[in-house]
Parts: sequence; structure tokens; C-alpha cells
Amino acid sequence: MKAALWNRDRRKADALLERAREHCVAELPAHLEKCPVHALGTYPNNNWERLHAKSFKEQGLDFVSGRAEAQVRERTKPRFRVPGAWREENLEGKAVLRSIIADGRWARFRQSYLRTRRDHSRAAFQERIERAVAEGRIRPLAVGNGALLRQAVPLSA
Ligand SMILES: [Zn+2]
Repeated sequence: MKAALWNRDRRKADALLERAREHCVAELPAHLEKCPVHALGTYPNNNWERLHAKSFKEQGLDFVSGRAEAQVRERTKPRFRVPGAWREENLEGKAVLRSIIADGRWARFRQSYLRTRRDHSRAAFQERIERAVAEGRIRPLAVGNGALLRQAVPLSA
């Protein structure tokens, strides 16, 4: 089928679909919304005039395969079918998160993200404290093992 679509051989694609239809079952399993064989025929039928991957490749043009398109659609559909989801500034971040979730890497990503944010927050906090000390707004306190613990004690209270 892939070769038939790649070469835009409609006759071969239709013949393959016809052969596949012989394997359709009379009653769909409960977890399927529609017959996979018929769904397989829908995509080329609806998109035939846009299926030019081979020619795009020959011309060195960028293109997205139907398979990649389907993956993106499947992974993003639940989150992108809400108001505001298609604002350009929201797209890339959401797409990345959806693929992380779909790959089963969410827990690891979340842990790593939180660690990074925590480190960033600590560094930003330390910076603010040091600036306040440098500007004489608070005084530093010396504590064990040589580290300086900055304490927010207003000098002019
Ligand atoms: Zn069928």
C-alpha cells in the first residue's frame, strides 16, 4: 500500500483495498469505532490530490508523511480541540508535552523539570538576597561550614 501511495498508483491502491476488504469482519470488536480496513481507504480517498510525497522528495521539498500526520493527530487531538489551543504561541510547547506523554516519559520529564525549576528558583532567590545585602537592605549571617546564610532582616526597621 505504501508503495502504491508513494507512486500515486491509484489502480494498485484500490486493488489492495479491495483485497483487504475480503478480511472485514461482520461485527466490529467493541474497542473499535470503525472498520480499520475502511478507515485505511478513507485517507487516500480524502487526500489523493495532496499525496505527492515522491515528487516532493525528488524536488528536495519538505513534506509530512501520512503516518507522521496520523501520529501527530492522534497524540494532539485531546488537547488541541479546546478553545485557544491553536494560538501559535501555545502549539510547540503543547506538541512536545503530548509526545512526552504518548511516549510514556511523563513521570521522568516531570521530575527532571521540577528539579530544574527548583534549582533555578534557588539560584534566583540567592541572587536576590545577595543583591539586597550588596545594597545594604539586609545583613548577612555567617553559619556553619563556611557557608553564608542570608537572612532577610531589614536594617532600618
Ligand atoms: Zn470493513
